[in-house]
Amino acid sequence: MFDKILIANRGEIALRVIRACREMGIASVAVHSVADSDAMHVRMADESVCIGPNPSSQSYLSVPAIVAACEITGAQAIHPGYGFLSENANFVQVLEDHGITFIGPTAEHIRIMGDKITAKETAKQLGIPVVPGSDGGVPDVATAKKVAAEIGYPVIIKATAGGGGRGMKVARDESELEVAFRTARSESKAAFGNDECYMEKYLQRPRHIEIQVFGDGKGRGVHLGERDCSLQRRHQKVFEEAPGPCITPEERARIGKICADAIGKLNYIGAGTIEFLYEDGEFYFIEMNTRLQVEHPVTEAIFDVDLVREQIRVAAGEEMELRQEDLKIRGHAIEVRINAERLPNFAPCPGKITQYHAPGGLGVRMDSALYDGYSIPPYYDSLIGKLIVHGRDRPEALARLSRALGELIVDGVDTTVPLFHQLLAEPDIQSGNYSIHWLEKWLAKNF
Ligand code: ADP
Repeated sequence: MFDKILIANRGEIALRVIRACREMGIASVAVHSVADSDAMHVRMADESVCIGPNPSSQSYLSVPAIVAACEITGAQAIHPGYGFLSENANFVQVLEDHGITFIGPTAEHIRIMGDKITAKETAKQLGIPVVPGSDGGVPDVATAKKVAAEIGYPVIIKATAGGGGRGMKVARDESELEVAFRTARSESKAAFGNDECYMEKYLQRPRHIEIQVFGDGKGRGVHLGERDCSLQRRHQKVFEEAPGPCITPEERARIGKICADAIGKLNYIGAGTIEFLYEDGEFYFIEMNTRLQVEHPVTEAIFDVDLVREQIRVAAGEEMELRQEDLKIRGHAIEVRINAERLPNFAPCPGKITQYHAPGGLGVRMDSALYDGYSIPPYYDSLIGKLIVHGRDRPEALARLSRALGELIVDGVDTTVPLFHQLLAEPDIQSGNYSIHWLEKWLAKNF
C-alpha cells in the first residue's frame, strides 16, 4: 500500500480523499493555489504545497507544478478527484513516465471515453445499447439530412469534442436542420476548437440514469446500480438519488450486468460511470465518465461501500474487494448540491461565510469544505457542499432531507438551499415523476 498520496484537487472532494487516506493510515499531501492558502483541505492534510497563482490554469491544472509537488513530498500516487485533471489522458501519461501512480483508469481508457465518437463506438462493440444516430462525424448538411431521414426527427446535433452540455442543437424537422447543423458546428468550433459534429435521435422525455461501475483491471467488473440525475439545470445536475425511482430490480439487473461485463472485457480499472438516457423502458448510452463522480455518495450510502478506499486499493495493486453477489441495496439516498449562487439567476455568489453549521443526526452526511470565517474565492466552481441523506425508503429519505436542510446554516453568501425547500414541496418530486426537462420548466414557471 502507498505511504503517501497527493490530492490534485480542492474543496469538498479533496477532504473526501484525505478522509479515506487517514482511515487507511496513508499520509496525505494537499496542493493549493495562493487564494486557497486558508482552505480546509490545506488544513486537514498532513502536508501541503502551494502550486501556483489563483487561476486554475496556473495551479490545479498545472501538470509540471503538480508533478514537482509529488517529487518534493515523496508522494507515490495522485488522486485527481473530479474535474481539473481527472480525465486528462496526457496527465496520466506524464505520471506514468515519472513513476507516479494515477489513482484512476489508464490513459488509453480515458482517451477512448473522452472522445464521444470512439466512446459510442466502443460502447456498441461491448454490447451497451446506444442512441440511434450517425456512424461517427457528419461532414455536411446533405449527409445530415440523409442521416436524419433514416433515424427520424427530432434529432440532436452534438459536438464530438463537447462537454458540459455545450455545442448541442435540436432540429424538430427538416426545415430546422440546416440552421441547427451550422450553428452546432460554429459553436463547437468556438468552444472546443473543433467543429466536428455527430447526430442522434432526440429523445423527448428521457430520464438521466447512470450506472456506477468498478473494475479490477484484470477482467473483473461489477456494477453498483444506478443513480437518477434527471433534475438538471443547463445540463448541470442539482439533485441526485439512488436507487432510481422508476427503475425496477429486473431492469437494474439487466443493464447492470451489461455494464459490469463491458468493464470486465475492457480490463478497466477503478471507478467509472456509464451514463444513459432512459425512456419507455429502454436505456441509451450517452457517455462514460472515467472518474469518481460528484454524486458518488448516494451509491456509497445504499451499498455501504467506500468507493475512494476501493479506488486506492486497486491502484496499489490489491485485489478488488467488491463482489457482485455481496452488493445489495439498502434503503434510499438523495444528494442535493449546495452552490454559492444567487437565485433566480444562479449567479455565482462568492464571499465570506459568517456562520456555518452542518446538519447531523441519523442518516445525514454533509461533505463540505466550509468553516466559520472562510472566504469562498471567486476563481473556482460554485459548489460549496453536498448534503446526502439516507433513509430506509424514499419517503423517509425525503423527510430526512427536508429536516436536514432546515438545520443547515450558511450565512454570509446566497446559496441554492431555498430552491431545495421549494422543490421538496412539489408533488412530482415527492412521487419521483420527473424527466430531464422537469426542472427547467419548473424554474421558468416559479422563478
Ligand atoms: P455533455 O458531455 O456536454 O454533458 P452529454 O452527451 O452527456 O453531453 O449530454 C448532456 C445532456 O444533453 C444529457 O444529460 C441530456 O440532458 C441531453 N441530451 C444528450 N443527448 C440527447 C439525446 N439524444 N436526446 C435528448 N437529450 C439529449
